[in-house]
Amino acid sequence: MRRQKKFYAWGYADEDLSADEIKAWEAEIAQRFGLNGFDVTPPPKPDEIALRAPRVAVPESLQAIVRTDQLTRLEHSYGKAGFDTTRMFMRSVPNPPDAVAFPETEQDVVRLLDWCAEIGATAIPYGGGSSVVKGIEPPATADKVVTISTRHMDKVLEVDPISEAARIQGGIYGPAIEDQLRDSPFTMRHYMQAYRCSTLGGWIATRSGGHYATLYTHIDDFVESTRMVTPAGVMESRRLPGSGAGPSPDRLVLGSEGILGIVTEAWVRLRKKPTYRASASVRFKSFYDGADAVRAITQANLYPANCRLLEAREALPGVPWSSTEAVLVLAFETADHPVGAWMARALEICADHGGMADPNADDDNAHRSGAAGAWRNRFIRAPHYGEHAVARGILSSTFETAMTWERFRDFHQKITRVTRDTIERVTGREGTVTCRFTHVYPDGPCLYFTFAGVLDKRIALEQFMEVLSTCTAAAVEQGGTTTHHHAVGRFHRPFYDKQRPELFARALRGAKRELDPKGMMNPGVLIDP
Ligand SMILES: Cc1cc2nc3c(=O)[nH]c(=O)nc-3n(C[C@H](O)[C@H](O)[C@H](O)COP(=O)(O)OP(=O)(O)OC[C@H]3O[C@@H](n4cnc5c(N)ncnc54)[C@H](O)[C@@H]3O)c2cc1C
Repeated sequence: MRRQKKFYAWGYADEDLSADEIKAWEAEIAQRFGLNGFDVTPPPKPDEIALRAPRVAVPESLQAIVRTDQLTRLEHSYGKAGFDTTRMFMRSVPNPPDAVAFPETEQDVVRLLDWCAEIGATAIPYGGGSSVVKGIEPPATADKVVTISTRHMDKVLEVDPISEAARIQGGIYGPAIEDQLRDSPFTMRHYMQAYRCSTLGGWIATRSGGHYATLYTHIDDFVESTRMVTPAGVMESRRLPGSGAGPSPDRLVLGSEGILGIVTEAWVRLRKKPTYRASASVRFKSFYDGADAVRAITQANLYPANCRLLEAREALPGVPWSSTEAVLVLAFETADHPVGAWMARALEICADHGGMADPNADDDNAHRSGAAGAWRNRFIRAPHYGEHAVARGILSSTFETAMTWERFRDFHQKITRVTRDTIERVTGREGTVTCRFTHVYPDGPCLYFTFAGVLDKRIALEQFMEVLSTCTAAAVEQGGTTTHHHAVGRFHRPFYDKQRPELFARALRGAKRELDPKGMMNPGVLIDP
């Protein structure tokens, strides 16, 4: 039986934080913001939310794969951002999909798109629904909406052991990829944070960023070829290790966010399971000392698998909120050769910038212990805290951007200041803001900001949106990107419109007109048809 996901928040319905985890977190939040206690709103039950009646009649030929029941429509109404959970806790879902389809084959996808075209419905491709940018949310202006979930298209179809690649269906969840590769010597290892509940097709459609901090940062670096069903037909690219034959068809598919069609399959590059590992964590007096070390490591072309620079107060328990220290979680991995020499050189560079490596640095299991281990646990558990923050009126969210090194310090200072000032202006009290690098390049880092504060529950949604929008707008105004890996969706659209060249938007509209002549695929995400 399929494990039911929470319709109102991240994760599965049968899992939650332990009572001890919640207690410790409440104590930390109360201390950080000087609170005496919390007014806790209980999570919504499906029958507490009134949905409008479905505006489509499902033809008999599709009834086996299309559902219109309350829970299914609720589950597919919002993504998993803090503002989505907030709206669920408000019991407010004014624009649910009218129907949700679950194709089992590519032919089913074709039939569903034909049906949507026939009845004039908007079609929304849906993978794991982990979007944090309103990527799968039905537009308020649509007359009818059919969400098409790929979740039954969940197989590794073929493994090519010679070229080390696999043909995989678009609706497969992260863990199922590794499960189905278990009997092979290979792994894909695109461990992004929402890995458990997101799909290969979703990763491709959003250009997701995985756990590799360098080299294979985005899913783009894994994709060898793609197959997409569009309203105009099937578009499949050729499997090639590289090609200079004009603009790449895969580049049109990567990041297309469901506006051109549904990615049903892709060939992706695999690698042998790593057997040689070296991990370490390194403490720095300041974030900028750590940043200088990270820049030197990336520019030395060492390419660590993990190279996450974190503010210590964000990453480690017990570090006081006033601390300015940073910690770098560093790891190398391969299946072919010992990586000690690479680690030794990276630690030398860190030492040149005042970094102090933890004593377990050479231990193979260092990624599970010390600062690296603490960060790893937080990374895995963090998404579960979202609903508890919303229930208590605590502002807790993130945004991510990227910047080249020569402008990094000034950019980081400005965005930190804007975030802090905006929280104070909007909520009337001081908040907190921290930054970490999730991915790093020789020419600059991805900056991932986490902020928190105390909301007024009566206007929590408005306050939340204002803080997040102001910070994202500032990142774009200051020359950064509206997103490094969370995609554009409907939330980032106004900022993306400022960032991308207008002529490119026209070219993309032209491509959409060819592939989706009726403009029915996920309109409003990326561009208006
Ligand atoms: C807790 C949490 C942690 C996260 N961590 C990361 C992270 O580490 N890195 C990262 O990059 N993102 C992260 N995200 C964001 C999100 O997980 C990614 O955008 C992910 O790639 C979405 O995949 P999905 O299968 O859930 O897609 P969905 O959310 O279902 O859809 C996202 C977009 O892709 C389109 N789409 C989905 N499937 C297809 C398909 N088969 N064909 C065409 N279009 C399709 C949808 O229409 C929509 O526009 C996180 C989100 C959460 C909630």
